[in-house]
Amino acid sequence: MADIIANLKKNGFTVTEFDTKEAAADYLVGSIHGKTVGMGGSATLGTLDIYDRLKKDNTVYWHSVDNGPDVCVNEVNAQVFLTSANAVSEEGYILNIDGRGNRLAASSMKKERVIFVVGQNKLSGPFPEALERARNVASPMNARRLGKKTPCAADGVCHDCHSPDRICNALLVLWGKTMWCDSMEVVLIREDLGF
Ligand code: SF4
Repeated sequence: MADIIANLKKNGFTVTEFDTKEAAADYLVGSIHGKTVGMGGSATLGTLDIYDRLKKDNTVYWHSVDNGPDVCVNEVNAQVFLTSANAVSEEGYILNIDGRGNRLAASSMKKERVIFVVGQNKLSGPFPEALERARNVASPMNARRLGKKTPCAADGVCHDCHSPDRICNALLVLWGKTMWCDSMEVVLIREDLGF
């Protein structure tokens, strides 16, 4: 873990570490005030249970709880964006796969702050292993979580399907903090969270 943290920092990401999801949730709620906040689709964020807490002091957009037509656009345009990662590689690269691309756009374009909330189970070996995790572990589990009619939801293995429900249409590999994001932070939690 120490090598990944060092490499994340070398790549321009801030890293904050917590032993528990409760401590991480308190940190996030305590450090975001008076902002527009977008939240990406994420089992990890659901586990932290921060949506209602953030709403008390911010304008929060999260398509997991609001199906309004503009909610994903508002997530992309928010000042702060919270998401998780499908994998973090040994080199300190952050990987996410998306069906719609909203999470990828929101986590790479101009922002005051992008925050990746990452459980220790997302930490991988070298880049090919991280890609393998994103493709063959996280995506099938997410397809199952979302009730998608894909072959991976049935057997837990990617078939590189062409299903209408396919959730894997774009891959973002962040090799480093992007230029127009003031801050990109990894909130690393020493628990297994999400997929
Ligand atoms: S490409 Fe299809 S089968 Fe593979 S993980 Fe994505 S949705 Fe599942």
